[in-house]
Amino acid sequence: MTPSIFLKPGREKSVLNFHPWVFSGAIARVSGSPAAGDEVRVCDYQERFLARGFFNPDSQIRVRLLAFSDTPLDSTFFEKGLRRAISLRDSILSPQTNACRLIHAEGDGLSGLIVDRYAEVLVAQFNARGMYLRREEIGKILLDITGARHLIDRSDAKALAAEGLSAAAKEPAGDLPQRIEILENGHQFEIDLLHGQKTGFFLDQRDNRRMIGELAGGKKLLNCFAYSGGFSVYAAATGSQTTSVDISKVAVEQARKNFALNGLDPAAHHFEAANVFDYLRHIEGDRYDIIVLDPPAFAQRKGDITKASRAYKDINRIAFQKVRENGLVLSCSCSSFISEDLFRKILFGAAKEAGRLVQILARPAQPPDHPVNIYHPEGEYLKTVLMRVL
Ligand code: SAH
Repeated sequence: MTPSIFLKPGREKSVLNFHPWVFSGAIARVSGSPAAGDEVRVCDYQERFLARGFFNPDSQIRVRLLAFSDTPLDSTFFEKGLRRAISLRDSILSPQTNACRLIHAEGDGLSGLIVDRYAEVLVAQFNARGMYLRREEIGKILLDITGARHLIDRSDAKALAAEGLSAAAKEPAGDLPQRIEILENGHQFEIDLLHGQKTGFFLDQRDNRRMIGELAGGKKLLNCFAYSGGFSVYAAATGSQTTSVDISKVAVEQARKNFALNGLDPAAHHFEAANVFDYLRHIEGDRYDIIVLDPPAFAQRKGDITKASRAYKDINRIAFQKVRENGLVLSCSCSSFISEDLFRKILFGAAKEAGRLVQILARPAQPPDHPVNIYHPEGEYLKTVLMRVL
């Protein structure tokens, strides 16, 4: 029989609101003796069924809920959930794009599972105990549904540590490809599947990169936190002169390669392996028409919010000071702990300190292959503000 978890009185509320996490403090007792990763039924204090999920006594998130009906979390369940997620991507991607987020964890009702598709290769992160233990089963279903040739497991060691698992860093076995070229809105990018950051590419910036491509039109662009040159390639393809800055030498080399892949001469553009905080301070003012700021998540947890806010304010203030009159600044934050409201306040403070008038032109969020579960607002992490600086 499937073990059951009984919640304390009143703690059923969030489950009735379809929130996918049950924290340790909400649990009154456990019947049966579920092992880490086992399927459990979650009930209220009167023993009424609420949901099913995977149990993990070693995580703050004690149960990750996957179904709010009393049906087993077996391969039929996974096949249905994975197909539903994949059909969304099939319906929104153009033939000019063959890389996308296929499974976006809670956003697709599959807490703990992230899968990115790069042409015929899937890169998966099984970032929760229950998902990790079922990775072979899930992997087979994924390959079967998508017809992809390979699946690479790049589960995140930090996420797994929080789940009480020390997955040894391993080189994926077999004849897996190391690198692959993908197409995004008609631009080519080479992805380092085994060693690239995250799963290899920041797919969540696809729509913003296209927006910058449309605005660039031969203007001068400074791309800060450029990684493999995404924004720069889009802009250079319109005749823009671009400068790409990233602290990672490997990323900067990849950016150069990506220029060449697209028939753009890297020698006609600037690439800098540098810390953006130093670099921005030393550039001459008035040189750039467009500045893109796409930093890593400065706030990784709640306790980082104050320090992170300062860092966001710093780079935005300098960008506002240095961009050309009537130039554009595209500013992003991918920290889920920095709310949209707080980010706006940070930008307000930065603009005021820079002493420039700033107009907000657009506020795009994450693209539709990174859906947000309405019951899990924590999943809405990417904030972008396009501004004109007078
Ligand atoms: N805009 C990119 C994604 C950026 S991810 C794209 O479109 O693909 C964040 C990047 O910031 C990473 O490549 C990381 O190497 C870089 N980075 C982190 N801290 C940095 C710093 N202080 N200065 C410069 N780059 C930094």
